[in-house]
Amino acid sequence: MAAALRPDLIERLAVQTAERENAKLLRRLRTIDHVDGPWLETGNQRLLSFCSNDYLGLAQHPQLIAALTRAARSEGVGSTSAHLICGHRTEHAELEEALAVWTGRERALLFSTGYMANLGVLQALLTRGDICVQDKLNHACLLDGAKLSGAELKRYPHADVAAAARQLAASPDTAALLATDGVFSMDGDVAPLHELAALCNRERATFMVDDAHGLGVLGTNGAGSISAANLGQHEVPLLMATLGKALGCMGAFVAGPAALIEGLIQFARPYIYTTAMPPALAAAALEAVQLAQAEAWRREKLTALIARFRSGAMELDLPLLTSASAIQPLLLGSADAALAAAQALEGQGLLVSAIRPPTVPAGQARLRITLSAAHEEAHVDHLLAALETLRLPPSST
Ligand SMILES: *Cc1c(COP(=O)(O)O)cnc(C)c1O
Repeated sequence: MAAALRPDLIERLAVQTAERENAKLLRRLRTIDHVDGPWLETGNQRLLSFCSNDYLGLAQHPQLIAALTRAARSEGVGSTSAHLICGHRTEHAELEEALAVWTGRERALLFSTGYMANLGVLQALLTRGDICVQDKLNHACLLDGAKLSGAELKRYPHADVAAAARQLAASPDTAALLATDGVFSMDGDVAPLHELAALCNRERATFMVDDAHGLGVLGTNGAGSISAANLGQHEVPLLMATLGKALGCMGAFVAGPAALIEGLIQFARPYIYTTAMPPALAAAALEAVQLAQAEAWRREKLTALIARFRSGAMELDLPLLTSASAIQPLLLGSADAALAAAQALEGQGLLVSAIRPPTVPAGQARLRITLSAAHEEAHVDHLLAALETLRLPPSST
């Protein structure tokens, strides 16, 4: 019989899923029925959430909702096309302009998601024979972008600038891109941006920073981790950031020199062959960009909540990582311990995500706590009181 031995792909996937379930690493979807600031309703439970990336508390801001509604009434819901056909609207153009000004760059280009922006940048810039040097803890989409590009991916140990330097020096005549998260999504620490910028300058490598978790939160007027490090477009020609985190919307952009943006419009396939984000969403994001700059109190409140959480956690000797950002992980080690801790917190009305392999390396499972300007001091105190009852392993530092 022909092809009798050909494996069935869906069956093979089902076997992998069963293996993951046996390893107690199965991911489960939870449907959220209603959101009210940091409060979530799911099933019959009302939970105080420490999981969202709505760092500035803008996702439900009345001005964003009004901008979205206004633009939808006038322009409808869908953009109806890709940017290069007839999907690029005034709302997109205005948002791009505002993002370029905010981040101090010549131009900006919108993408429908951050995942696509990173795929698009790496696929457009790199080709077989080039090298792409990346921090081992970079976001999955930067790694996938390098694979898609055909370049050789070299991953250096987390924040190890000397190792990155060795990887670049090993191929001195090869076109090279060095990419790092600005704020690391699972650890919350900031990349050594100064040292990496100096290295890229010395080695003539193009430096790219993914500032998904820094934009809106760090730097003057919330312009991000690059601005906080006093660096500009000259030192970091390639900035990517998202609109779905601190800005409370969805989508992403790349900002940098005009030649970069012109080239991406020509060659970034995840930009060209996809539907433009809804214009009403771009209008809401523009409102968010303006609020993020104007309402410095949101950053100040977030900073105070982070300090309150960290000092409380240190008093309790909890296994905190050294993060000054809104991402405050507690390192628990085993996946079972992280899951048990998250379940115990949920029993006390708190939603905190357990982050397990393969999202983080084996043995480094954690609770990933995220704080927001939508939280109040009492919420942080509630979380600390609940954590105290868990008997977590003490800090190892
Ligand atoms: C969330 C995130 C992305 C992906 O952005 P989306 O808009 O959610 O697709 C990319 N990079 C980092 C570091 C992120 O945290």
